Amino acid sequence: MIIYKRIADIQKRLMDVGAQGLSTGFVPTMGALHSGHISLIAKAKKDTDIVVCSIFVNPIQFNDPEDFEKYPVTVDADIYLLEKAGCTILFLPAVEEIYPEGLKKNVQFKVGFIETILDGKYRPGHFQGVCQVVHRLLEIITPRKIYLGQKDFQQCMVIKKMAAIYFPLLEIIICPTVREISGLAMSSRNKRLTATQKQQASEIFKTLLFIKKNIRPGFLNNLLQTALQNLQAKGFRVDYIAIANAHNLQLLDTWDGKEKTVALIAAFLDEVRLIDNMMISE
Ligand code: AMP
Repeated sequence: MIIYKRIADIQKRLMDVGAQGLSTGFVPTMGALHSGHISLIAKAKKDTDIVVCSIFVNPIQFNDPEDFEKYPVTVDADIYLLEKAGCTILFLPAVEEIYPEGLKKNVQFKVGFIETILDGKYRPGHFQGVCQVVHRLLEIITPRKIYLGQKDFQQCMVIKKMAAIYFPLLEIIICPTVREISGLAMSSRNKRLTATQKQQASEIFKTLLFIKKNIRPGFLNNLLQTALQNLQAKGFRVDYIAIANAHNLQLLDTWDGKEKTVALIAAFLDEVRLIDNMMISE
């Protein structure tokens, strides 16, 4: 694996790759890598000739400065994992390389109502920050395919909308969520949890399973209330528990028994915010 820190250098290499007719698969990350990230690398490796991973903790997508400061950084371990997974290229840019004109959020990406609900509502500006960095990275790397995790369900939808406008030929591959044995979705933020909290955090997964098992056609309010109370009783501060149409993320308060739905949760354990989701009717 070759590590590039400068845009000019990685683009020179990628021009050679293009000239040889090789395809490129791209996995954008914020580092502190775990098996979830590595599953995306593995899928990209299967599908494409050259796998590019980026590690960049994007300052402008953090609405909470403390969350940014405490975001885990484990570059040496990340490089080791990527080498082992057979990643071809790691792009490891500095903030100035990505944002040469400073951290301005002046571009407005039109992603519609999706960014006004759920994480869009609770993390104002977050998805514009995500769009800005992914747009910039896609311009630099110009991959044929991008690999994203279903773990960030709403983010996948936002990136799909952005890409449909600016990168219509890009293929977007959404990969399943990788979990701990307890069911806890793997996440870089789990590194901030104690062993006891990690066990406690698996309640989010259990709550999603509870929703999946108990959903019935009709009003969803009682089900959502019970799920909320369960999580609160287990010590979580809940931002949201919601059921939405899995195609367009319209929030549902009733279910017709046919619509394909997804349940989504965002909740804090102490200061650590965790998100997860599950398809509950397919
Ligand atoms: P992050 O480093 O958290 O920005 O994540 C980088 C990519 O990895 C995103 O597309 C995430 O959705 C994906 N990802 C994160 N956690 C998981 C997981 N547990 N399983 C599968 N993909 C994941």
